[in-house]
Amino acid sequence: MKKISLLIPCYNEEKTLPMLYPELTKLMEKNNQYEWEVMFVNDGSVDGTMDELRRLREKDPRINYVDLSRNFGKEIAMLAGFDYVTGDCMIIIDADLQDPPALIPEMLKYWEEGYEDVYAKRKSRGKESWLRKRLSLMFYKLLQSSSRFDVLQNVGDFRLLDRCCINALRRMRESERYTKGMYCWIGFKKKEVEFDRGDRIAGQSSWNYRQLFSLAIDGITSFSNLPLRISTVIGCLVSLLAFIYMLFVYVKALVWGDPVRGYPSMVMLILFLGGIQLLSLGIIGEYIGRIYNETKNRPDYIVREFNGERVL
Ligand code: UDP
Ligand code: MG
Repeated sequence: MKKISLLIPCYNEEKTLPMLYPELTKLMEKNNQYEWEVMFVNDGSVDGTMDELRRLREKDPRINYVDLSRNFGKEIAMLAGFDYVTGDCMIIIDADLQDPPALIPEMLKYWEEGYEDVYAKRKSRGKESWLRKRLSLMFYKLLQSSSRFDVLQNVGDFRLLDRCCINALRRMRESERYTKGMYCWIGFKKKEVEFDRGDRIAGQSSWNYRQLFSLAIDGITSFSNLPLRISTVIGCLVSLLAFIYMLFVYVKALVWGDPVRGYPSMVMLILFLGGIQLLSLGIIGEYIGRIYNETKNRPDYIVREFNGERVL
């Protein structure tokens, strides 16, 4: 019998879990030609999520949980899940039922046909503010044009991954993760299914603008060197202009002499160049920061317990 794993990262989801569980059992009962495993990753929740998970596991041995020692963020929580799931394929879903489990049988059908990565594409994005939609669109455009492979738009983490994809993703241990880009990077046979993304059933979205911004920076820096290249190009252009202007000033001084003037242009130049230098330094800094983090070679996450057993 083939084994299917459901991977569900949870951060403060005590309110949604009681609603999620019946949906999952419905799904598992309906598709009982498979063996099922549910892998919850508790990402350092500060509410009763852990108690809820323990209760669920007592009731239902198909439920498993990994309890991380603190909040590591969804990307890392998913990596922990990749390490712990044992299925022949895995389906990642959010705990808040924004990803409808009803779509899973269709995904499984495509998997049986031989597709290795069946991803769900949102037809609509649910209730999100206008600004958030615009920013997200801008980000994808930027990423699209700066990296060499396609990062799909309106595609989230809701997808089915074959064992080969799970193993490939497990080999990518970088700590500043942008998993959406990795699914594309690893390749494999992909298939799209469409769905309408609803709203959260309860609780609150835990992403604020600052976190989204930092995810966007991670996305761009981990998949593209374009920002570095842009600063090189700007540097070259500015040096060229500076050289031409230098010749101009030199010749002017030789031919017409040069009483001291030009304070405004001097200040402008200093400010302009200072700005560009700081910007380039900042860009280089972003990359160096990432190099620094990766070279520390720390484990990506720390597990407190797995299914009630302490790991450390
Ligand atoms: N999540 C997580 N760690 C975090 C933030 C979120 O594991 O630090 C989980 C959360 O419990 C949910 C999923 O990631 O299952 C998606 O989170 P959320 O619904 O807040 O994001 P959105 O749907 O707004 O993108
Ligand atoms: Mg959500």
